[in-house]
Amino acid sequence: MSWQQRIAAALDERRSVNALRTRIVGESDATGFTHQGQRYRNFSGNDYLGLSRHPAIVEAWQQGAQRYGVGSGGSGHVTGFHQAHHRLEQTLAEWLGYPRALLFISGFSANQAVIGALMQKEDRIVADRLSHASLLEAASLSPATLRRFHHNDVDSLQALLDKPLTGQQLAITEGVFSMDGDRAPLAEIAAAKRNALLMVDDAHGIGVVGEGGRGSCAAANVKADILVVTFGKAFGLSGAAVLCSDDLADYLLQFARHLIYSTAMPPAQAHALQTAVTVIQQAEEQRATLQRHIARFRRQMVHIPLQLADSQTAIQPIIVGDNQRTLQLAASLRERGLWVTAIRPPTVPAGSARLRITLTAAHTESDIDALLEALHDVTRE
Ligand SMILES: *Cc1c(COP(=O)(O)O)cnc(C)c1O
Repeated sequence: MSWQQRIAAALDERRSVNALRTRIVGESDATGFTHQGQRYRNFSGNDYLGLSRHPAIVEAWQQGAQRYGVGSGGSGHVTGFHQAHHRLEQTLAEWLGYPRALLFISGFSANQAVIGALMQKEDRIVADRLSHASLLEAASLSPATLRRFHHNDVDSLQALLDKPLTGQQLAITEGVFSMDGDRAPLAEIAAAKRNALLMVDDAHGIGVVGEGGRGSCAAANVKADILVVTFGKAFGLSGAAVLCSDDLADYLLQFARHLIYSTAMPPAQAHALQTAVTVIQQAEEQRATLQRHIARFRRQMVHIPLQLADSQTAIQPIIVGDNQRTLQLAASLRERGLWVTAIRPPTVPAGSARLRITLTAAHTESDIDALLEALHDVTRE
């Protein structure tokens, strides 16, 4: 098969199962998505606390750009490591109770870098089977053996960890699962992990879950060996950090290629993130509002004949199953002025296409009620 044929065949296959991915040009804020001149109520974002346009954070980014320019000018290993990065790493480490934090340009690259740097051929990665693509892809690209345990099933995790092995093991899970909204049993997992290193990706928990927004591990009173937090969700910006021991941080500085061979994040962004940490620490009111919206939504969904996933977080998926039906529901909601994204395999397991509804503190009660009314209506079509 020629390149052209191979590419065309892959696209055709996606189209034939209603799974072709496309992007839509638009402008989003926490509660709205504007597309072709029309504003929709947005229930698809990850801006859980409504911080992406927070005036103090926007101002900090502007101020940072004025002071430090718009780019870092190089890898952190050369001349790109600025005082603003250093200060942010120290703040994050102190806030989350670790000796060290290392900044990354994205959560995807942090996961790739950590797994790529750690794993060797005789090792085993034992990961929750619903882990994010950035984790599973890094794991399958690594020389180690990847075994996936049943979702949130500690017995299944333990059975895999107990299999004979000459090398080391890395146990991987998420604090809050991105497509399901449920939370990992972190205390049980930490108790079951034996000699494995525990890596927790808390992209959807940091800022939202736990006292002061410290995330899923803090809420479960668990200290992961490697904690990955990202700034593209509740923080409202982008970027990520890996929290770990001194030795592991020094090791990653030697072997994490995404750190070494990539331009450091702009110092202005680190400066803005510094302000975002302070805002997050004080965001009790936003966290409480979000919880009220979640409770209101779930209470009313009882009366609507759709299969709501068992989630207590901002991610409230409705499991539909069929791709075509999921797309239809999303289109019907769009006609009613609501932006809800249809998530299809392979992002989620086959036969579990869903509407991934996300709530944010920036929504009003009338936004939630409009969503409920529209969901009610579309089930009667
Ligand atoms: C979004 C996400 C990532 C990727 O983070 P980015 O900063 O967006 O690259 C990693 N892990 C999980 C669980 C995520 O949801």
